[in-house]
Amino acid sequence: MESKFKELYDRLPVFGQNIILSGYSAILDHQRYSGKFNSFKKLLEESQYYSSEQLNNYQQNKLQDLIAYSYRHVKYYRKIMDERNLTPDDITTIEDLRKLPILTKDLINKNFTDLLSDEYDMASVAKGHTSGTTGSPLEICYSNDLIHINYAMLDRQYAWAGIKLKRFGDRIAVIRGNVIVPLHQNKPPFWRHNYFHNHILLSSFHMSQDNLASYIDKLERFKPKVIDGYPSTVYVLAKYLKNSGRKLKLEAVLTSSETLFDFQRELIEDSFQCKIFDYFGAAERVLFSTECDKHEGHHIASEYGITEVLDKNDQPVNKGQTGYLVATSLHNRAMPLIRYMTNDMSAVKNGLCSCGRNLPLMDDVATKAEDLLTLKDGRLISPSVLTHPFKPLTSIIESQIIQEDLDNIVIKLVTSSEFSQADEVELIHGLSERLGKDVNIRIEKVDFLTRTTSGKFKWVISKVALGI
Ligand SMILES: [Zn+2]
Repeated sequence: MESKFKELYDRLPVFGQNIILSGYSAILDHQRYSGKFNSFKKLLEESQYYSSEQLNNYQQNKLQDLIAYSYRHVKYYRKIMDERNLTPDDITTIEDLRKLPILTKDLINKNFTDLLSDEYDMASVAKGHTSGTTGSPLEICYSNDLIHINYAMLDRQYAWAGIKLKRFGDRIAVIRGNVIVPLHQNKPPFWRHNYFHNHILLSSFHMSQDNLASYIDKLERFKPKVIDGYPSTVYVLAKYLKNSGRKLKLEAVLTSSETLFDFQRELIEDSFQCKIFDYFGAAERVLFSTECDKHEGHHIASEYGITEVLDKNDQPVNKGQTGYLVATSLHNRAMPLIRYMTNDMSAVKNGLCSCGRNLPLMDDVATKAEDLLTLKDGRLISPSVLTHPFKPLTSIIESQIIQEDLDNIVIKLVTSSEFSQADEVELIHGLSERLGKDVNIRIEKVDFLTRTTSGKFKWVISKVALGI
């Protein structure tokens, strides 16, 4: 939310905040479920039962359209194809894609304007921000089609879990990164209502041991069919249920945006007496994969994009072998991302799912392992919610959050020369908004960030032992 609007929102009584949230959701609803949403939804209902050959044909037709379009309307692709003496006729199959180079985040930053289609302009196109595994922000432009297919994908994922997602649909509890409850508030309600969608939004920022009982009491009264949230946050609720000898029966838990660890899945499924339907949607919207009710892996949505798994020399690996996920969006005309390197790792499984769908299966995405931050008042903070203040700051190349002790957090930054005092103030403000004013946040500019001995990078290092 804009800071002026946020100030006003924070001063409203709870009921007023509920009304604002519901109204805002109605506006968003119109944007999400208009345009091609219905035709995508219908396609996804049918295509989930396509044969492998039908799926392949769908992808190749879409790919041919995308390549022809990109050659005609996107300067960057015209240039790289001309340099290689390629025309759209040379790229007609999925194997042909390898004739084109990998698109890295760095290349996007360097060729940002040239990657935008000449049919779209920056002022009117939808934009998204993402932070990669090393915390470096990236801006991507999206066409409306991509937004509509994204919501159609989400709709199918909910349908696989037996839940009706749309307006006035099933009761859903959402626990994600939005600051919907003022941070200084120290008494319930630590949630707000979206009456339009029949959702309750729970704050991820007030989850201290003292407050958790009120969260669970509220969930018992609200009776959601499903909780949708980050695994680490839903885990806090599940752990509290276990510690207090309680269970809360739901029909499904939907998790996404973070690595879902086995220990989290076991406890969450036990405490909520239902299955987890994990889904993975890369923030750059090039790849969407979802679990069906057989839970034999994540089905890659072939209708959404083309996914390759490559080794560190950009060569394809065999099925069953882990590699880097490189993906091509089939629906983003505003800024086509072709062979985009995601920084996430996984493997395509051998064999198909016993549910009968031919959409390929992928292992869980193994990104960085993340710790929860523990604050002095006992609140537990999921690292995913801390990614938000970094996203608009393009002058940050890499970042790392280190919690030294309960009072002190150090943010290590590798920055470009554009990084300004104002950026620093904005970052600290965004983090304080989430962690509280009494945490001392210090920025430390460094030339590089250290990796673990295995070469892995941890975005968050918490030196404080978990409080639960
Ligand atoms: Zn399946």
